[in-house]
Amino acid sequence: MSQLEIHQIPVLNDNYLYLFKDPESNAVGIVDPAEADPVLAKLDELGWSLTHIINTHHHWDHTGANLELKEKTHCMIVGSHSDAERIPGIDITLKEGDIFEFGTQTAKILEVSGHTLGHIAYWFENSNVLFCGDTLFALGCGRLFEGTPAQMWESLQKIKKLPDNTLICCAHEYTEANAEFAITIEPGNRKLLDRVGEIKAKRAQNIPTVPSTLLEEKETNPFLRPDSPGIIEELAMQDADIVSVFAEIRHRKDTF
Ligand code: ZN
Ligand code: FE
Repeated sequence: MSQLEIHQIPVLNDNYLYLFKDPESNAVGIVDPAEADPVLAKLDELGWSLTHIINTHHHWDHTGANLELKEKTHCMIVGSHSDAERIPGIDITLKEGDIFEFGTQTAKILEVSGHTLGHIAYWFENSNVLFCGDTLFALGCGRLFEGTPAQMWESLQKIKKLPDNTLICCAHEYTEANAEFAITIEPGNRKLLDRVGEIKAKRAQNIPTVPSTLLEEKETNPFLRPDSPGIIEELAMQDADIVSVFAEIRHRKDTF
């Protein structure tokens, strides 16, 4: 089976959209369209016809172009069942464990509440790709606007269980700021220090640091590592439970 062909489109200040096609069926999806014009231009350039908008959550910088793109391309809009009232133009609703059929490909749906309630992620297993919106970022995770630390930690654990080579296609280029923060949480992590160097070099040349692999995130992202002995020691939280450590890391990032 062939894999999805994926194009990353930078929009607004720091958002990434993902335009992707199943080569066997010509199904074409866009993840979280904040703006329509860059998507329409790329579709034109590639000669592709949009069939689906794939939304991870309701925020405007992920759904802002839903209605314009639907009107211009007659695509279907896909999102969480629990966000049906908040996602403009939604046609297909999905919940935890659902299999979303996209041409000849399928995506398994993970409910990953925390940043918002009703946030979902799409795991295209055959292509080793996760579209995770604002849940997991390169060296970071989404702010907890609607959910609790316990909910976000549960969501991140679902992502942690995916294969190590999964490409983490998140929705923002926040990596450099995340890196500055991460080294304050786990200064003894050699792989993290190496990665921070690579990130700074890439950003100095305006090269995207996204996507990353799940393995990189497991080894270096503090939000996936509240069980790391180095982090627990740095935070002096030897007697705390893991959710409390996660909550403390999130709290420190909010005020960093
Ligand atoms: Zn968001
Ligand atoms: Fe966002």
